[in-house]
Amino acid sequence: MSNAETEPAEVRCAASVSEEPRVEVLSARDVPLGGPRAMTVRRTLPQRSRSLIGAWCFADHYGPDDVAATGGMDVAPHPHTGLQTVSWLFTGEIEHRDSMGSHAFVRPGELNLMTGGHGISHTEVSTPRTTVLHGVQLWVALPEEHRHAERDFQHYAPKPVRADGALVRVFLGSLCGDTSPVRTFTPLLGAEIVLDPHASLTLAVDPAFEHGVLVDQGSVRLAGTAVARAELGYAGPGRDRLELTNTSEEPARLLLLGGPPFEEEIVMWWNFIGRSHEDIARARQDWENASDRFGEVHGYPGDRLPAPELPNTRLRPRGLR
Ligand code: MN
Repeated sequence: MSNAETEPAEVRCAASVSEEPRVEVLSARDVPLGGPRAMTVRRTLPQRSRSLIGAWCFADHYGPDDVAATGGMDVAPHPHTGLQTVSWLFTGEIEHRDSMGSHAFVRPGELNLMTGGHGISHTEVSTPRTTVLHGVQLWVALPEEHRHAERDFQHYAPKPVRADGALVRVFLGSLCGDTSPVRTFTPLLGAEIVLDPHASLTLAVDPAFEHGVLVDQGSVRLAGTAVARAELGYAGPGRDRLELTNTSEEPARLLLLGGPPFEEEIVMWWNFIGRSHEDIARARQDWENASDRFGEVHGYPGDRLPAPELPNTRLRPRGLR
């Protein structure tokens, strides 16, 4: 996925740890993704009051969309640096191609993790047989010592595990006795949880982690606080258990994200993560110059995405609490 904002702000991101035991509820803003009919995504990270949850630094949630109406996903070749992308679908199928030569299909319940590292480019297109598209794209910030890592692409289909009144798919990290074999550069948790009607689930979690709960469907309470569909509930570190309740007659589905607070300040602009304005300006220039840094994607019938103009002003730290 590419950030399709026409004037993306340069965002300085840093962990803002809440000492407050209360759960914070973050609402989404709608962002057009571009493509033929500008399919819209609901973005909950980053936002003014919170930039990161662990190393999770970007969360786009979309659908269920009737592809005949939205045109589906069609993201032309675009670059990434300093981050990993996580694609996770509930319905539909996306064809992924990247400058390592990877050609993969993203399908429901299967993790596709792309490491941008020093630089990669890719395309993401919903397939012709997709009628309904529904899923998320998440980004993970890479820590300083690994932010120039080599490009990589990994696929993993977790076996669902049954917990109290819930079905859990652990795609990154450990939960409910299951551990994903996929390597991450900082400790991370990523899991899909489907709660039975009226089920209540108490999860043992790492107290060093902060957690986010992105609700995809249903009425969910996180540690007693209602989190509505498309909202992101945030629980700070210091908890060794998290209680999730489905208050409805229907199954509820959510993603649980977590990690220890990310200790570095990062700068996010467009599809890049760096540590300074200069890092971002260099990445942009390298993309505009078609540098080997990002390589070439083959098999996409169209032009690559141009980078937006950099803002005239140097980035300023975003208001963080
Ligand atoms: Mn992308």
